Amino acid sequence: MKAKQKHRVCQRFFEKTLNISNGPINKAFEGGQDGFFSAEDKRGRKTPYNKSKEEDVAFVKQHIEMFPTMESHYCRKNTQRLYLDAKLSIRKMYSLYLEFCHDNSRVPLSQSMYRKIFCTAFNLSFFVPKKDRCSLCNRYAEAKKTESLTDQLEALYNNHMARKTNANLTKEADKQRSENDPTFLSITVDLQSVLQVPSGDESLLYYCRKLCVYNFSIYESRFPNEAYCFIFCIIAENCVYITSVYTNLDSQMKLTVSYGRKSMAKEEVMR
Ligand SMILES: [Zn+2]
Repeated sequence: MKAKQKHRVCQRFFEKTLNISNGPINKAFEGGQDGFFSAEDKRGRKTPYNKSKEEDVAFVKQHIEMFPTMESHYCRKNTQRLYLDAKLSIRKMYSLYLEFCHDNSRVPLSQSMYRKIFCTAFNLSFFVPKKDRCSLCNRYAEAKKTESLTDQLEALYNNHMARKTNANLTKEADKQRSENDPTFLSITVDLQSVLQVPSGDESLLYYCRKLCVYNFSIYESRFPNEAYCFIFCIIAENCVYITSVYTNLDSQMKLTVSYGRKSMAKEEVMR
C-alpha cells in the first residue's frame, strides 16, 4: 500500500480490529486533513478531580515515618526491608493517622490511599517473629511458593536439613555424656527474637523509638537444668551494652557449646 493512497475500509471491521469505538476515528478526522491525523495527544493531562494533593500525601508519609523501625533478626544483610512493631497493622496505623490529622486540623485521606502510600513509597513490613527464618530456609520457602526451585537450591536445603538432624543426634549423645561425666557439661544456647521495649497499647508508645533488647540464654542439659540469661542491647555497631547477666557457671568447667540456632560451631570451647 502506497503512502497517502486512500483506501476505503469497513468502519465496523476497522473498529473491531483496533478494539476502539467510533469516537477516536471521528476525533482523528477533526484533527487532520485528508484523513491523516497530526495533533498532540491530549490524554492524561487533566488532573482527576479526586487526586490527592501532594501535601496530603506528604503528610501521610510524615506520619508513617514517625514509627520506629528495626532490621530483621536474621535477614539483615540480605534485605533493605525494615520492620515495624508486631502489634501494628495498616488499619491500626490508619486509626492513629486519623487522630494525628485531628490534632493537626487536617482532612484525612482515605484508608485505601493510606495503604497505597504505605505499600508503594516504603519497604516496610510488620515484624513477625515466628516467620523470621534463616536466609536459606527463607529462600527455599520463597522458591517453593513461586515454583522456581532449582536443583542446586534443593540440594543446599537438603544438606542444611541433614545438618540439623545430625546436630540433634549429637545433642542427644552429648546429653547422655553430660549425665555420666562430671567434667563434661552439654548446654544449649539460643539468641531469642528481638524484644522491643517499651511495649504497650498506649498510642504514644507506638511512636516511641524502641530499644531492641536481646536475650542470649544458656541452658544446661544436666539436672537441675540451670538456665542463664545474658540480656543486652546494641547501642551502636560493635558496641554492646550488657544490662544483666544471670549466671553462676563454674569458670573451671569446660563447656561444649553446640546447636546454637546460628552462631557457634560445635565443639567450640568456652571457658
Ligand atoms: Zn534454616
